[in-house]
Amino acid sequence: MDILLHPNPALKQVAQPVDPATDRGLKRLAVDMAKAMYLAPGVGLAATQVGIQKRLVVFDLDDGLVALCNPEIVSRSEETEIDDEGCLSFPGITVPVERCIEVTCEALDLEGRPIRFEGGGLLARMLQHEIDHLDGVLMTDRATAFDRRAALRRYRDLQEG
Ligand SMILES: [Zn+2]
Repeated sequence: MDILLHPNPALKQVAQPVDPATDRGLKRLAVDMAKAMYLAPGVGLAATQVGIQKRLVVFDLDDGLVALCNPEIVSRSEETEIDDEGCLSFPGITVPVERCIEVTCEALDLEGRPIRFEGGGLLARMLQHEIDHLDGVLMTDRATAFDRRAALRRYRDLQEG
């Protein structure tokens, strides 16, 4: 399973909600995505990044593999912070992105059971980044115009290498 790279137009697609109870291929997809994520290596991957328009995210922040179906941020802290962010669809570059410091996320697990959790720090940043992917939004879309131009220039240089 290949991870799509910017500027693949499929990365701008909006993914559709999934139903874990009836979608027989969903667990297999999560396993394949996890393999691609670990191989990369990365800490999070959205189905959009492998060209599949389903609202499925996998991540592992050293606490084990988690798969989220239809993840939604239901509340977010007003406080934000700016930090460098990377993305498996933009190998080799990072870009400063402003994100909420804490979020509350609701999703379904692969069995269709509701999950709700609060996250801060890297977990909050990763969730905002991956859920953005499901809406066709990339980290560069969230950067300032200045940082976006600089990051995309570096990215093009690396790609043309
Ligand atoms: Zn990404």
